[in-house]
Amino acid sequence: MSLPTPAQLQELSKLVVEHGKLINGKWYSYKTMKQTLDRMAGDIAFSAAGSAAKAALTALSGVSTGVAFVSFGAVLTPWIASADIARQAGTIFELHDLKEYAAAKNANSQLHYYCKCGKCFENIKYIVDKKERNVGRIAIGVATLGVSAIATSLYSVAKSFQSGRPKEMVSKGIVESARAGCTVAIATIFLLSGNWSFLRGGNAGIMRRAAAILTSEDGWKEFKSSW
Ligand SMILES: [Zn+2]
Repeated sequence: MSLPTPAQLQELSKLVVEHGKLINGKWYSYKTMKQTLDRMAGDIAFSAAGSAAKAALTALSGVSTGVAFVSFGAVLTPWIASADIARQAGTIFELHDLKEYAAAKNANSQLHYYCKCGKCFENIKYIVDKKERNVGRIAIGVATLGVSAIATSLYSVAKSFQSGRPKEMVSKGIVESARAGCTVAIATIFLLSGNWSFLRGGNAGIMRRAAAILTSEDGWKEFKSSW
């Protein structure tokens, strides 16, 4: 798996943080944002109009939300297009690598993903542990002819009625950190948003999904369903 470079995520984090101020933290709905980005991706003109869209956004302060989110889509679309090309030269990453970046205190955000929220290490550790637990559970389920698999599904049903569940809190926490500009949190969302391939131009759909998660009020639910 290969991700957008640290410099690119740094650029994206600036766009998101700036836009968050503009809209006073009132983010969009995942569905609207995803549809907007998908639609704009089909419109090649938007890729070329990147700087014009950026200028339009800067002039937007105080304008209604509907206009703001279309403009923000126009800012994100060229970023996705350029990141999809430059990403090819990027480093290969797994969750374990991101966890190490979260623990490291390296302030060079142009060269490395850098955790500025201080919460990524614990959050990513939770995801890694949970993934490994799930693998174990499936193995046991197969060995005992599905008996424990049934127990597992009953357990999941029971758990979905509890409130303040850790998976929900971790999902919300990572999206929140990403929105505050933490590039390790952004990279985690990108990494878990789909199956990355090395094929040129084949990953823009995953990036649109990640960008919509990042910029919507209910995006954490979509993120939660991806791990
Ligand atoms: Zn962080």
